[in-house]
Amino acid sequence: MKKYRLMSPGPTPVPEKVLLRMADTIIHHRTPRFRAVLKGVNDKLKKVFRTDNPVFIFASSGTGAMEASVVNVLSKGDKALVIRGGKFGERFTEICQAYGIEAVNYDLTWGEAADAVVVEKLLKENPGVKAVYATLCETSTGVVNDIKEIAKVVSSTDAVLVVDAISGLSADDLRTDEWGVDVALCGSQKGLMLPPGLAFLSLSPKAEKLVERSDLPKYYFCLKAAMKSYGKDDTPWTPAVSLIMGLDAVLDMLLEEGLDNVLTRHARLAHATREAVKAIGLEIFSRRPSNAVTSVRVPEGLDGAALVKKMRDEQGVTIAGGQAALKGRIFRLAHLGYMDEYDTITAIAGVEMVLSQLGYGVELGKGVARAQELFK
Ligand SMILES: *Cc1c(COP(=O)(O)O)cnc(C)c1O
Repeated sequence: MKKYRLMSPGPTPVPEKVLLRMADTIIHHRTPRFRAVLKGVNDKLKKVFRTDNPVFIFASSGTGAMEASVVNVLSKGDKALVIRGGKFGERFTEICQAYGIEAVNYDLTWGEAADAVVVEKLLKENPGVKAVYATLCETSTGVVNDIKEIAKVVSSTDAVLVVDAISGLSADDLRTDEWGVDVALCGSQKGLMLPPGLAFLSLSPKAEKLVERSDLPKYYFCLKAAMKSYGKDDTPWTPAVSLIMGLDAVLDMLLEEGLDNVLTRHARLAHATREAVKAIGLEIFSRRPSNAVTSVRVPEGLDGAALVKKMRDEQGVTIAGGQAALKGRIFRLAHLGYMDEYDTITAIAGVEMVLSQLGYGVELGKGVARAQELFK
């Protein structure tokens, strides 16, 4: 028997009491009983998103919210500025292309963070840009972008700022209203500790104006329809009832712990992970590391894919490898969602054992000891 340990940056483990809540009888959604739950969820979501604006829920994976942020905010002939520091930044350009929107790409070397000064320059050079698409935690590289600085630049223009916080929310600080983020996106299976299947989108009044005039094709992801239902604590289509029940439980957990404490916990686990990795003698890949996931450079001569596979098949620990151009070159350890100190220690212990098996000269326990030192 091997115990299953999920340490990927999505999906992430789901707390037991949330699983139990989702196992309850399915109730009908057009009822006072469900509407009461939804109302509570809507109020609590605002707190977790740190916004006074509505946060809409879709029954889709996170990419659905990304698509919604393009088809509702933009109109035919509009231009978008896309900050691309990895696979998820690139996805925005792909969605824009699917709808005939011209994307001006700000391409970063993978592993580096966006520079607000460059965003400012690109906005000046491209006055037709209606929306800037940025990523809080670029999960493919483990970089957290400086959204606060980027928001300063964008909010002083007519353009709106859309932030993909799908993996970052609850791990990396995001002050939606305070910083001037117009649209913040999230997914259920990352920091929100739920199974995959829900996507979230917050909408500022500035972005709502663009939604009102948007003429790109859409049906399921229509925000005008969502807005109409939202005021009545309803949804335009059948909501994912069991996931919403789980969400209700998860939001209670997050607010009970306190959002600042949740962020501090992630920062603590992330810091210990980075320090342990360095103690083993490995290098952090990201230049501006996120508190959701740590990406580690695979040492020269070592098979990165084999490391991830051995972790999963022999240690029972599911971590993530590199995506696209980073395949085999990095591995990623998540400290996201329902995780604590012992999860970090477990991941580091597993990495040490597998590195040793692969012939990498590592003194067993060095990384673990570093983490223990920081946790004690
Ligand atoms: C996971 C993730 C997505 C995509 O989410 P899906 O749920 O797979 O559609 C988008 N952006 C970021 C930053 C992510 O981490």
